[in-house]
This record gives sequence, C-alpha cells and structure tokens, in this order.
Amino acid sequence: MNLLEIKRVQRTYHATSSHPVHALKDITFSVPQGEYLAIMGESGAGKSTLLNIIATLEKPTAGQVMLSGRDVSQLGKDQAAKYRRQHLGFVFQHFNLLDSLSNRDNIYLPLVLTKTPVEEMEKRLAPLVKALGIDKIIDRYPSEISGGQQQRIAIARALITHPELLLADEPTGALDSNTSKEILNLFDMVNQQGQSIIMVTHSTAAASYTKRVLFIKDGRIYHELYRGQMSQQEYQQKISDTMMTLTNGGE
Ligand code: ADP
Repeated sequence: MNLLEIKRVQRTYHATSSHPVHALKDITFSVPQGEYLAIMGESGAGKSTLLNIIATLEKPTAGQVMLSGRDVSQLGKDQAAKYRRQHLGFVFQHFNLLDSLSNRDNIYLPLVLTKTPVEEMEKRLAPLVKALGIDKIIDRYPSEISGGQQQRIAIARALITHPELLLADEPTGALDSNTSKEILNLFDMVNQQGQSIIMVTHSTAAASYTKRVLFIKDGRIYHELYRGQMSQQEYQQKISDTMMTLTNGGE
C-alpha cells in the first residue's frame, strides 16, 4: 500500500466578484513509503493548494486524499487538527518558531499539545539534537540564532512526533545557498533513515536532492522526473530544462 494516494483531486475557488478559479483540475499521483518528492511549478500553478489539501488544511472540491489507506479529505476541523498532529510534520520557509519559547520548548510544543510525558519528550529529543547538530543552541531562543539554525530547530519540531509524512514548503527559501545545502543535506539524511518527505520548492538546486519531481502547470500534472541513477548535477539539469519548457508554454 502506498503511503499517500491523491486521486482525481480538484479544487475550485469561488471568489465573490469574479469567475471561479480552478486551482487544481485533476491531480492523481501516489507516494510510496520512504519517498522524497519535490513539487515544482510556476507561481499560481496550484502547488500551495495541493500541499494544503495533503495537509488537510483545505478540502478538495472533488477527489480523495488517502494517507495509509484512510481517506482524510473530508475530515471535520477538529479531526483534521488531530490528524495533522498525529501523522504529519511541517517545515515552513519562515521557520514559524515562537519567540517567547526557548528552542527546546519550541521543539517540545507538538508533544506538549498531546500531553506526552517529559521523559518521553527527552528520549525523543536526544537523537534529534545529535543528528541535527543543535546541542549548543537548544537552550537559547529563536531570536538569538541564525536562520539556518532556526530551520534546524523547526525540523526537530517537525520530526519529534515521528510523522508518517514530512511536508516542507520552500524550506530553503529564506536561506543563503551554503545554509540551504546544509539543510538539504539534513533532509537527505532523514529521508535515508526512512522519513517520507514532500517538498514544494522553486529551487532546482533544492529539487535536485529529491528522488522524484512532480511538475504542476495550470492545476494539472505536467511532467514527472525520477532521479534514478542520474548524478545530482545531471538531475538538476533535467529539472531546469523541464522548468524551462514548462515556463515557455511547451506541451
Ligand atoms: P502556487 O502555490 O503554485 O503559486 P496556488 O496554489 O497558491 O499556486 O494558487 C493556484 C491558483 O488558485 C491561483 O490562480 C490562485 O490565485 C488561486 N487561489 C489560491 N488560493 C485562493 C483562494 N483562497 N481564493 C481564490 N483563489 C485562490
């Protein structure tokens, strides 16, 4: 069974003063366990809408979103919130850490919300601190550390619940290229340890770390690339070429 199945998903927005916007027209794809998938496409293509639907932050107008065999596309608000806490991890472009909490307490927050005992939180934190290299900053505050360090804390916060699926929205969008590489290497490492990841990105460099890229254009899947045996450089070139054809209106 696939980890995630997106079946004939459509999403139409009915803005009051204008015509309906068909943000997603007909999207079908599956994500096996252990996948590392990038979603790319021009601005307005439907990437955020798709990510929000996978995240159960939005409901599709039609179609199904199956995670581990369960249709999560029509969950009510409270059920969806619970589902997100239990099954998904999130990493955002702007880190979204709370400045009033120490880094440690930011990481603990999702477990505090599910009333996890302190010993369990500590047990889960230890390997993350080591893997993400955050031991020296764990008791500082987000405002006292760099953007790259904040993203490490945010990744720890996303992973501490042991999510089935990690969703990342432009995770390197606010970072310089060297720091981006460090963060992408961390994603690569957690993926190699079995973590399934879906990442929305504009960056061909970021996408070149993944195993597969799904290109979205005008609410439909335009193309799909697998890294396979390609070198990272070759893969990035292919991703760039595909983005170029997509942008130039090629069919
Ligand atoms: P992307 O993330 O690829 O830039 P989006 O998913 O944000 O694309 O948007 C896809 C299309 O849906 C765009 O035409 C956008 O204007 C429209 N759209 C997104 N959200 C809304 C909304 N809440 N109301 C109306 N239209 C929306």
